Amino acid sequence: MKIRNLESFYTLVEALEKLPSIGKKSAEKMAYAICVENKALGNKIAQSIQNANQKICKCKWCGGLSEENECQICQEEERNNGELCIVAHPRDISIIENIDFFNGKYFVLESLESVDFDHLISLVTHHKIKEVIFGFSPSLANDALILFIEDRLKPLNLRFSKIAQGVPTGIGLEHIDHLSLSSAFKGRIKV
Ligand SMILES: [Zn+2]
Repeated sequence: MKIRNLESFYTLVEALEKLPSIGKKSAEKMAYAICVENKALGNKIAQSIQNANQKICKCKWCGGLSEENECQICQEEERNNGELCIVAHPRDISIIENIDFFNGKYFVLESLESVDFDHLISLVTHHKIKEVIFGFSPSLANDALILFIEDRLKPLNLRFSKIAQGVPTGIGLEHIDHLSLSSAFKGRIKV
């Protein structure tokens, strides 16, 4: 039963519950922590959310996260090494950056329906890309996606490869340890 005169608390719990992997119990614990036990932390979180919501957008080139139109990686001239890594989600960029192995450019391709191939082709031309590396976790669906993209980019005469070795099938890059992911990049295979 909901207690009267606690609407703001319940509204907070319901909002937190909508976050990925947060159930009702966790949402309630979080709500206690941020509006009862540690109000200063609650205020800091509230301000940080508002600030990040206002500032963070997607880079016009790669679709990665940035506070400017163009992200730092797209701006950096020294990262023009002819390699482009296509990933399935903006967060995969920071996962790959954390292994400190890849030094090329990125492109986020969240779904076939959302991809603008003219834009991808202009990005490949702009950065003088020679090799496209598919940074997708291995799955039959992703293999089909890779073939489709490869076919669309065929006229550009590129090398294509995908990360594979040591990466389990069907799980997101965020579940793969650094060592496995960097050896998956080193041992990438031609497609
Ligand atoms: Zn970018």
